[in-house]
Amino acid sequence: MTEREVLQIFQKSGALLSGHFRLSSGLHSDKYLQCALVLQYPDLAEKLCNQLASEFKLHGSKIDVVVSPAIGGIIVGQEVAKVLGCRAIFCEREEGKMKLRRGFEIRKGKRVIIVEDVITTGGSVKEIVEIVKGMGGKVEGIGVIVDRSQPFLSNELATLNLPLESLLRIDIEAYSPEECPICKKGIPLQKPGSR
Ligand SMILES: [Zn+2]
Repeated sequence: MTEREVLQIFQKSGALLSGHFRLSSGLHSDKYLQCALVLQYPDLAEKLCNQLASEFKLHGSKIDVVVSPAIGGIIVGQEVAKVLGCRAIFCEREEGKMKLRRGFEIRKGKRVIIVEDVITTGGSVKEIVEIVKGMGGKVEGIGVIVDRSQPFLSNELATLNLPLESLLRIDIEAYSPEECPICKKGIPLQKPGSR
């Protein structure tokens, strides 16, 4: 599957829209991305995650555990682990902090990959890396369906220095309402998902 085919899957599912949107942050953007709208189709989730998993098969080393951040990463983690033949576990936020709960374990020396649906600043992934290392696991890499980290590469993600595999790279510019160039063109704001 090429990056262009992945992009088409996103567009057909309404998971990537172009226009003029107010993001949940309050900022305005010319694109709207909602990976869950692709992953709601199990056949598409399987197809995309097969490809993502194959990137890690190429690296050669056997992966013992796939860890993902809840909620967005859980489906991706499940599907990738199915292909790799290993466990899928997830971290979740408790009082704002990422934690491994529910009796999930990572034994010392186990090889781990961290997978997510969309990576932006890499903040959640960084927290998970610290959890895995704290338990003695070895993080082999990061896998994401969509990489939109480009504008943030100078911060947290870069400091991790881990291989990052992705199926689709997109840049999403966001503007404050006062500085939004799309507002200046007089294009009305759309509510995501209203099309
Ligand atoms: Zn605007």
